[in-house]
Order: sequence, then structure tokens, then C-alpha cells
Amino acid sequence: MTAPAYIGRFAPSPTGPLHFGSLVCALASFLDARHYHGQWLVRIEDIDPPREIPGATATILHQLEAHGLLWDGELLYQSQRMDAYAAALEQLQSTGLLFNCDCNRQRIAELGGIYDGHCRQRVVSGESALRLRVPYSDDGDYPLSSRFNDLIMGCYQQNLRTDVGDFVVRRRDGLISYQLAVTVDDQFQGITHIVRGADLLDSTPRQIYLQHCLGYRDNHRPALHYAHLPLATNDEGQKLSKQNHAAALLQGNEADNLWLALDWLQQKPPAELRRESITEILHWAIDNWTLAAIPGRMEIPAPRGF
Ligand code: GLU
Ligand code: ZN
Repeated sequence: MTAPAYIGRFAPSPTGPLHFGSLVCALASFLDARHYHGQWLVRIEDIDPPREIPGATATILHQLEAHGLLWDGELLYQSQRMDAYAAALEQLQSTGLLFNCDCNRQRIAELGGIYDGHCRQRVVSGESALRLRVPYSDDGDYPLSSRFNDLIMGCYQQNLRTDVGDFVVRRRDGLISYQLAVTVDDQFQGITHIVRGADLLDSTPRQIYLQHCLGYRDNHRPALHYAHLPLATNDEGQKLSKQNHAAALLQGNEADNLWLALDWLQQKPPAELRRESITEILHWAIDNWTLAAIPGRMEIPAPRGF
């Protein structure tokens, strides 16, 4: 059997309701999948209980449904995937790629967040994080400087040693890092295309590196396609996020929300479409979807009211 040509996903964290910026991401990943006759999956990234808001998962799913963004198959909850993350950690451990680190926050902050390898050779006992070694020389089989071609942002390059450093895969408090969980689950779900916000652009080289370390990529399993969407900002140029209290999407306004999101995504929805139902709007949007219209490397103000 040949692998499906397109499996996309939307992977919200249940830290609050969807706002305009996250609706844009959900819509873009949905439209890209549907335009190419692909599947569109939804995964709930609930691996960080301290940051979760009770009821947020139900709200997000309800908002997706109300906007006609209906997913394929079962939902995947990361909170139910702990065994898979533990197995991945064990695999990395067995290849000598992990080490324990008990550096405190202040030390990491003094390094500007770029880890200097301090605990690589130390024996650390007691509470500690697990970090993944990144390449320090071109001698290994992973290049020091890695690049990928983003479908919106163009060529993006990072040197994992000087731009990131050995990074955390399991936190000191025992929680699994976003980078590890997302990589394991994108593989598990057979994801081929990732369309998400540009705030995750600089995470992508870490995820590609993890795919390499976990043996997910070889000649038979082609690289994932990435498209990072410019961020919707408020009037002050700040990213719309739950943290800066971007207004939640108004209930009863779904068709208009979709039209505004399409307009924001530079899809040029006709004015008369704004009076149509969500079914009509999505139908038009799937037919006419093009990533090429979306400008890269830009911050675009969201419509007023969001
Ligand atoms: N759960 C992440 C977030 O809500 C997104 C993960 C992803 O798309 O890779 O920011
Ligand atoms: Zn350390």
C-alpha cells in the first residue's frame, strides 16, 4: 500500500479559546488539506497541565465545528501518549544522545537561552532535565547547519549549536517537551504537511533533527512539507495570543470570522461571499485556496475588533 499523499493537522494547546490568530492557522491548515484532497486531523496538545485552562479543549472543538472545520478520524490527545514519549526517550537514551542537566533558570538565562553544553560530561544526580545533544561538528552524520525550504517563508537556516544548543526533551518537573511530543505524534499520525504559525518556525529545525535522531526520515520516508503563516498582530504589532488577551471569536459570527480570516490570508474572497453561509464560504475557499498568495516574513494587523 502506498502512503497517503497528504495528511495535515491542527494541534491546539488547551490554554484558552481560539482567537482570530489561531482560527487563521486552523483554517489555513484545513483548506490546504482539503484543496489537495488530503486528510485533516486534530490533535489536542495537553501535555502541560499547569498551563491548561479547564474546559478549553471542549471550547476549541466546539469553535472548530461551529466554523465548519470538521476533522477526519479520531482526536488524538497527547495526555494519552505518555508511553510513546517514554519509548522515544529510551531510544534516544540508548544511542547516547541524552544527558541530565541540573542547570538553573538563571544560568540558562545568562546564556541567552542557548545552552552551552555545561552538563554534557558531568554526573548529575537528583532532579534534572534531560537534554538532547546537538551536533558540535560536521563529523557526525547530521550537518552542523541545517536548512529547510518553507513553503511560505522560503529557505530557513539554523545552526543548532550556536542558535539553540542542546535542548530539553524532558523537563526537570518530568513533563515532556513540546518538541519531543510534537515530533513523535507527527510521525505516529503519518503527517505529511504542517501548516502553522510562524512563531514555530524556529522550532522546526529542532523537530527535523529529532526526526533524524529517532530514525523517522530516510529515503523511503520523504521530508515533511512546512508552511509557516505570518502572525496576526494587534494594532501595537504584538502577536495575537491568549497571553495578550486577544478577544475570543464571537459566537454567531462564524461566517464573518471565516471571511475575515480568508481576507487576512490574502485569498481575495469576493465581497458578496461575506453574506453567504459557512458551507458556501468554505466551498469557495477550498476551490480557490493558494499558499502562494500569502506574503512571507511579515506581520499583518488583524481586522479591527480582534
Ligand atoms: N500546540 C502548539 C500551539 O498551540 C502548536 C503545535 C504545532 O502546530 O506544531 O502553539
Ligand atoms: Zn546543565
